[in-house]
Parts: sequence; C-alpha cells; structure tokens
Amino acid sequence: MTKILNNHVLAADVGGTNTRMAIVTGNGDILTLLKKPTHCKNGRDEMIRFLVSFAREVIEKSNLPEEKICGMGIGFPGPLNAETGTIFNPPNLNGWDNVPLKDILEKELKMPVAIENDANAAALGEWWKGAGSGTGSLFCITLGTGVGGGMVLGGKVWHGASSIAGEIGHTTIIRDGIECTCGNTGCLEIYACSGGILKRVNDALLEEGDNGKFQPLTNLKEIDQMLIQGNEVVLKIIKETGVILGIAIANLANLLNPEVVVLFGGVTNLGANLIGPLKEEVKRRAFKKATESLRIEFSQLGDNSGILGAAKNILSRL
Ligand SMILES: [Zn+2]
Repeated sequence: MTKILNNHVLAADVGGTNTRMAIVTGNGDILTLLKKPTHCKNGRDEMIRFLVSFAREVIEKSNLPEEKICGMGIGFPGPLNAETGTIFNPPNLNGWDNVPLKDILEKELKMPVAIENDANAAALGEWWKGAGSGTGSLFCITLGTGVGGGMVLGGKVWHGASSIAGEIGHTTIIRDGIECTCGNTGCLEIYACSGGILKRVNDALLEEGDNGKFQPLTNLKEIDQMLIQGNEVVLKIIKETGVILGIAIANLANLLNPEVVVLFGGVTNLGANLIGPLKEEVKRRAFKKATESLRIEFSQLGDNSGILGAAKNILSRL
C-alpha cells in the first residue's frame, strides 16, 4: 500500500467535447492538469490517436520518470463494460461499437489501464475525495446536457448485471409524458436536462404570448437572469423541475437508502429555486427513516470529480 501511495497514475476525464488529463498521486493530489478539445469527429481511430498522444504529452510535462507512473484510469462516456474495458456504442461518439479500448491503450502506453463510465467515475471521485468522503453509500446525479447517475456502495461502484446500473435519467417520472431519446416516455432526463428545461421554459413563455416578438432563451444563464428579474413563468417551471427531481430522489432514497446524494453539473447553478422544492418533495414522499439519514449535497470537486474517480479506479486495481 505504501508503495502505491508514493506513486502516481495518469487519469483522464474524456468527454465528447473536451478531455481533461492529469497526473494524480496515490493520495489524490492532482498534478499537471491539461484540458483539450476532444478530437473525435472522424471516428474512433482519430480519437484513440488523440488519447495516446495526449497521455504522452501529460507524462512528458509532468517531468516524472515513466516508472513512477503505475497505470492509467479513464472516465469515458458510456455505455461500456468496466471489467473488460470495452466500449459498446456511445450515442454521442461516431464509429464506436465494441471497441476494446483498455487493451488498445495498454499496448500503446505499456501500463495497466482501467476504464469506467463517466458518471460512475464522477461518483467514485466524490466518494473518495468530495461530498461523499467517508460514507458507505453515495449516489451521484449529473445534471447537464443529459441526466446521468452512478453509485458507490460499500466502497465500490455498483455496475449491475449488464453495466447499466445508475441510469436514473431514464427512470419514468410521468406516465405517458414527453417522448425521450431512449424510446421511453416521461423519463427524468427529458424534464431535468438543460435542453429539456430550456424547452419547457420557452414553451411556457411562448404560451404567455407577446405578439410574435418572442426570442427563445438559449442557455441556463439566460434562465438564471429571468429568475433574478423575478419572472413568474420561468420560476414556475424551475420549481416544477425541482419537484420532478425530488420525486426521482425520493424513489432513490426508498430504494437504496444512501447516505448522500450528490448533485453535479450545470443545472445545479439554478440554485435555491430548484433545490428548495427538490428537498421538500423528497421529504414529502420518501420514508422518514430514509430522509433522516440522507444528505443532498452539491458536488465538492466540480470538474475534477471525474479525474479523481478515474484515478481511484486504477489505484484500487494496482
Ligand atoms: Zn429516456
């Protein structure tokens, strides 16, 4: 154990838009953190070349002897098999279908590699060094362009029978609700992701009507501005989003009875107008026993949760 604590790993948080890579110590200190736009438009071969050259660049810039770097951990957009390190078919990336990314990178970089779904990596990071540090059970919900989830139970990521566990974004909240990209209707994601919130806000503002002069809002900052200005129509939709999220978390609390639910991602910037109704709804719906021991917290690590989770994943396998 002492040997590992004295050593370092390479850790990557890979996204469809940007990739962050760093050297992380066995104690969780982040060194040599770099961020680049992900080269992935031309398919998987281009993206693999990008990941390899980025990894070599981080190692070089760290000025560490290569033998000091014991392995590489990666948080990657799912779905994937974390045991074999095979990427199935991520909806946001072209040309990936059953790609043995772990094997490919181990050969190229000549070090052990461990790959985890990005939402699970964020959960593991928050459990190791963030809002869930010291707890036995944590569920992390990412609220951004999609709604993802990951859980750490008894110190380990829970993957489920076919690596799908944690997909809270595609649990049904409203029977016969809005059609979701996954094929189901009424999923949490379609109401609580940034695009879904914007659509509902714009629809409501349009319904209020101002004779064709309506300019749709295009991002969450503009929603926040409307909230600051006290726009009642927007406030109603954001409170309703809080209630919808609260229903999902109440179900989660009764099902898993976690110690902490960590909320992560751009949507959390909507602040008290979202979180207040969310917490009230959880209290209203879940068992008292489940809510008494439950903390609902914002991410403490922010953008670094994925990197630290990826690092912890490879460290625990060395
Ligand atoms: Zn869905």
